[in-house]
Amino acid sequence: MDELEELRRALEGAGIRLTHQRMEIYKEIKSARDHPSVEVLYERLRPRLPTISLDTVYRTLTMFVELGLVKRVYGKDPVARYDPDTSCHHHMICKECGAIIDFDWPDVSELPIPDNVRHLGQVEYMQVQLVGTCKKCQKKGGKKR
Ligand SMILES: [Zn+2]
Ligand SMILES: [Zn+2]
Repeated sequence: MDELEELRRALEGAGIRLTHQRMEIYKEIKSARDHPSVEVLYERLRPRLPTISLDTVYRTLTMFVELGLVKRVYGKDPVARYDPDTSCHHHMICKECGAIIDFDWPDVSELPIPDNVRHLGQVEYMQVQLVGTCKKCQKKGGKKR
């Protein structure tokens, strides 16, 4: 599998050992499509890794972010969520349920960074956030969570 090779190389390059737990956490985040938080990933991993701690999941994800393997993103709440897709894409954020939904917007993704932004600092990537109400919440009347 390509992705595990990516992990192996990134860890090797940083002098970090590839443990079973790290591999399982990586597989879990890479297969997630809902930008899960640390808590959500932890709950998903526990059945397979009963001895894993929330802190280990947190520290491992932070390491993956530093190695550029996943991105840290924020939605409706001030809770870090994790994105396995490090390529350029954008997010629709539901202000009702907090869902973070991926979408592509090639016209925008190809725009150059404006000159008046360059003096503010170094830009790493661009990501547009559209905020609104997702389909599911629209159906519920957009009122309840
Ligand atoms: Zn929603
Ligand atoms: Zn995303």
